[in-house]
Amino acid sequence: MITSNSSRLLQRIEEFGKIGANRQGGVDRPSFSAADVEARQKLIQLLQDRKLKVTVDPIGNIFARRKGKDEAKPPILLGSHIDSVPNGGKYDGMLGVLVALEIIEMLDEHQVETNHPIELVSFTAEEPNPYGLSTLGSRTLTGKLRYEDLIGVVGRNKDPLKDAVLRVGGNLEAIKAGYSVERGAYACFIELHIEQGMRLIKNGVPIAIVTDIVGIYRDRIKVIGESNHAGTTMMDERKDALVAAADILTLVEDICRKNDIIGTVGQMDIFPNAVNIIPGQTELILELRAGSKDKIYQARDEIYQSLHRIKSLRGVDVVITNILDQAPVPMNPEVISHMQKACEKYELPYLQLSSFAGHDATHLASITKAGMVFVPSRDGKSHCPEEYTEIRDIAVATDMIFETVLSIDQSMERS
Ligand SMILES: [Zn+2]
Repeated sequence: MITSNSSRLLQRIEEFGKIGANRQGGVDRPSFSAADVEARQKLIQLLQDRKLKVTVDPIGNIFARRKGKDEAKPPILLGSHIDSVPNGGKYDGMLGVLVALEIIEMLDEHQVETNHPIELVSFTAEEPNPYGLSTLGSRTLTGKLRYEDLIGVVGRNKDPLKDAVLRVGGNLEAIKAGYSVERGAYACFIELHIEQGMRLIKNGVPIAIVTDIVGIYRDRIKVIGESNHAGTTMMDERKDALVAAADILTLVEDICRKNDIIGTVGQMDIFPNAVNIIPGQTELILELRAGSKDKIYQARDEIYQSLHRIKSLRGVDVVITNILDQAPVPMNPEVISHMQKACEKYELPYLQLSSFAGHDATHLASITKAGMVFVPSRDGKSHCPEEYTEIRDIAVATDMIFETVLSIDQSMERS
């Protein structure tokens, strides 16, 4: 049985972890930064050393192709992203790219000829960035972001996105006439990622096959009360928009717990936000996440119903505007079944989990058969310097994906 080389994997995780390393022990490698450019150069060098054909597409996504027996077949695509959040960790994204590289090394070392070409991808700007466009590379590749959406975009420092893209070897002008891959251009896409939660750790299981990436729903809720003097307005004369908002927060928590879905109010503005004025208005963003739209709508409708009680109790008005209603994205059942078989072959216990965070695979699912694998995150931590995954879990997941790739290569003709 062909197995991955743990020490090689570990060495690369550490080497890339040094690019953008900060004093807090974290990694600062936002897309388009000097650290990102350095990591890209290092990755391209490693890929070229392996005699792979490397290309950088117009949005800066890096591709490396290992030839298949039948070059007319669509490639099996493997990868993730190498940018990080500010003060992030060494594993988020980077691991998916390094595992893709390790799989190519395993094929080379054992002179395995696949029917399909195998391609590694590193997507541009998966994480939130100063240009306000996360999953930039995968959304552009899949045609969800077009030239018109990108050409006028400027960053927080007023620097144009088009200049940033040039710095990483892309060129927005090249997508003017349209740029996106068609459905069927790839046989499938597989992304390995850290779980960023506690479910694997709590269950003592080393690997998860992702069943779907949850839907995300957001409402802007404006609570309109009455501003007045904070000293002279008696308690029973008030229409306090902040106290009413506090009722909404506990309501959201209660209903989400009861319906077993994820809900958060992570942003709130208070007007006029002054120490001696009763808050006349608050604006909060309600976010709900679940594996089905029905579950989301059920919880949302219960929240709406209970708002009537808060309105009459607090004497406020509530105006709701929906700002996001992103459907859940199921992972491909065929890819999932190949993964299950690979786990069984290795007698590997696995969980089947929803992903509560978005990933590049969310977008790839619109053009190909997409699948994801999670490895455990110690203490459930991610987007912080404490991010950590045991190398033995990474190695086991690499072997499982290697097996999945071979099994897909044997059976899958066209997507
Ligand atoms: Zn990520």
